[in-house]
Amino acid sequence: MSPFQEDPIIVIGAGVTGLSVATLLQSQYPEIRITIIAAETPTTTSPSADYASMWAGAHYRPIAGSTAQLKQEAEMAQRTAKVMRRIAQESPEAGVAFLQGVEYLEDPPEEILRLKTGDVYASTNDEFRVLEHAELPFGAKWGCEYRTWCVNVQPYCQWLLDRFITNGGQLIGHRLSSAADAFDFARQIGLGRVKIIVNCSGRNFDQDPKVKIIRGQTVLVKQRYSKTVTRQNRDGTWTFLIPRPNGGGTIVGGTKEIGDPETRPRPETRQKLLEQAAQAYPDFVDSVDKFEVLKENVGRRPWREGGFRIETESVAPGQRIVHGYGGGGRGYELSWGAAERIVELVKASAPAKARL
Ligand SMILES: Cc1cc2nc3c(=O)[nH]c(=O)nc-3n(C[C@H](O)[C@H](O)[C@H](O)COP(=O)(O)OP(=O)(O)OC[C@H]3O[C@@H](n4cnc5c(N)ncnc54)[C@H](O)[C@@H]3O)c2cc1C
Repeated sequence: MSPFQEDPIIVIGAGVTGLSVATLLQSQYPEIRITIIAAETPTTTSPSADYASMWAGAHYRPIAGSTAQLKQEAEMAQRTAKVMRRIAQESPEAGVAFLQGVEYLEDPPEEILRLKTGDVYASTNDEFRVLEHAELPFGAKWGCEYRTWCVNVQPYCQWLLDRFITNGGQLIGHRLSSAADAFDFARQIGLGRVKIIVNCSGRNFDQDPKVKIIRGQTVLVKQRYSKTVTRQNRDGTWTFLIPRPNGGGTIVGGTKEIGDPETRPRPETRQKLLEQAAQAYPDFVDSVDKFEVLKENVGRRPWREGGFRIETESVAPGQRIVHGYGGGGRGYELSWGAAERIVELVKASAPAKARL
C-alpha cells in the first residue's frame, strides 16, 4: 500500500499545464489520490481572459534559436509532439490533428536563414522544407513548410479532465489566495495531510516579478483552412490561421500586447486582423465580408522572463511546492515535455521512505 494514499497530492490549475501534469502523474501512480483545485475549469461557461488555455489557437510552431532557454523548450516541444501524435492517432475525439504548417517571414533572423531542407524543425520526420524564392508570397524573404499539429483547445482540455475524473481524480472549484494557501485549504476540507502542492496556476497568483501578461486578440471564423500558416510581418505583427480540429473553425490572429490589461475585444483590432488575413491568404477568404465570424477572443498569455518556472520550493518542514507555471505563448506546444519535468520534481519531492 502506497503511503501516498494518506498523503494526497494537489495540483493547482486546470489549464493545459495542470491537466497534463495531473493525468501524467495519475497514469504513472494510480494509487495516489490526486485533486485538482482550480478557480476556472474547462466546464466554466464564460472563462475569463486570465484562463489562457481557453483562448489559445492552438498550434505548434517551433522557435529556432541557440539560447539555453530555447534549446530546453525545443526538447520539451519535441517530447510534446510525440505524445500529441499518439493522442491524434488513438483518440481522435480529443481534438488534436497533424497537418501541414507553413511560415513566411518578411525579416528573417540569422538563425532562421541557416536552416536547410531536411533539418529537424518541429519533430523528427517532420518533412521540413525551405521554400524556393518563387514559392514565397509578395514581401516574404523566407518561408518553410513542415508537419505539425493543432488542437481544438476547449474540447482537448475537457477530454483531459474527463479522463482524469474517470480514472479516480478529483476536481474542486475554488479560488486560492496563494499556492501555499492550498495546504490549509486541503486540511479544512478534509483532504488529509498534503505534503506536495503542484502549482500550475499560470501566473503564480501574480506574485512572481518575472511574470507579465501578454494580451492576445483573435477571431474565430466558421470556415476551415487546410493548414496552419503564420506570417511574421516586418513591423513585428503576426498574421496567422490556425484550424481547430473536429469542426472547430479557424482562428484568425493575432496580437501580442505586452502588459495590456484590456479584456474586451477592440473592434479596430478585429478589423485589422481580418483585413490582414484576407490580404495574406486570399486562397482562404479574399475579402473581409466573406468571413463568417463566430466569436472574438481575448486572452492573457502567462509569460515569464526565462520561460517556464519548473522548480521545487520548500515552504515549511515536510511541505513542498513544485512550481510549473509561466508557459507564455507556448503552453500547449510544451505541455507534455513540461509535465514530464514537473512530475520528475514531484517524485524527487516525495519523503525518502515514500519515494515514488
Ligand atoms: C491568443 C492566444 C493564443 C495562443 N496560442 C498558442 C498556441 O498556438 N500554442 C501554444 O502552445 N500556446 C498558445 N497560447 C498560450 C497558451 O494558451 C498558454 O501558454 C497556456 O494555456 C497556459 O496554460 P496554463 O495551464 O499554464 O495556465 P492557464 O490556462 O492560465 O490555467 C491556469 C489555471 O490555474 C487556475 N488558477 C489561477 N489562479 C488561481 C487561483 N487564485 N486559485 C485557484 N486556481 C487558480 C486557473 O483557474 C486555471 O485553471 C496562446 C495564448 C493566447 C492568449
